[in-house]
Amino acid sequence: MTLRLVAAALLLVLPARASAEVKHSVTTPTTKVVFVDVGQGDGVIIKVGGRIIVSDAGLTGAADEMHAALEDLGANRHIYRAILSHAHADHVGGFTGLLENFGYTIDAAVYAPHHHYERTQTNVALMDALAKHGVPLIKAKKGDQFFWGGASWRILNPPEGAFQGSGDEANASIAFRLRTHGSDLLFTGDIERDALEGLVKSWTYGQAEVFLVTHHGSNYGSTNELLDKIDPVFSVLSTGPNSHGHPGIHAVDRLEQSGTTVFCTQRNGSLTLTLAAGGAMDWRASRQERPWWSLADGKTGTCVGR
Ligand SMILES: [Zn+2]
Repeated sequence: MTLRLVAAALLLVLPARASAEVKHSVTTPTTKVVFVDVGQGDGVIIKVGGRIIVSDAGLTGAADEMHAALEDLGANRHIYRAILSHAHADHVGGFTGLLENFGYTIDAAVYAPHHHYERTQTNVALMDALAKHGVPLIKAKKGDQFFWGGASWRILNPPEGAFQGSGDEANASIAFRLRTHGSDLLFTGDIERDALEGLVKSWTYGQAEVFLVTHHGSNYGSTNELLDKIDPVFSVLSTGPNSHGHPGIHAVDRLEQSGTTVFCTQRNGSLTLTLAAGGAMDWRASRQERPWWSLADGKTGTCVGR
């Protein structure tokens, strides 16, 4: 499947938002964020300040889609930072293929340690590939901040040493706030109630214009407490056919009630967001151009049966 964006799908422009935060310097005029249609899973590529950062890469088989999208962004088989949100195959599996089959170099991989990285075949293959290709590992925890590509990347979860039990891999997800071109983007991996409560408590940043919906729309993520606090303008459901009931009916209801505009990768395909100085946002979709759900138009089709 090619991810070339054949149509100028939709153009949504937002006014600039007043911000008390000091503007960081970005050397390129735009930031691009591609929510790749990896089926059930997350796979996001961010190009900022000339750097390519990949935040999750879908299942092992999604390496093809990720590679095509990386080519479109001119990555030239080089990734500056790979963010491994947590040790589940639908998030980190694709990195192995990028290294082993497509010859990517990765300057460093960022992860939150959990023993599950040593437990499954997919995870062991990934750790082996990272070691074989000499990719340094950077540990991340709540409170850390990075400035990759001139943008601000604030780590919001997990607190150091938290969520280390078996079965707690999802709550140990790296969650982060990316601030670029005056907008905030929130990524929460697959965290559920326990981790989400901590994140909500420590969210002091006001609105997050863009929200990658927690855990593919699980009913246990995207709580009203979170949505009230971040008041997202745009939300992306990264999901495909699955046996977990994602997106959950209650999560979908909450998103609709919040008034956010929702894209669904299963319906809309891969989504490319361009952020420009002054707060302008441009969204393009590789399939259905209209958002899956918006306050103005309601639902425009189904998202994995919803
Ligand atoms: Zn997942």
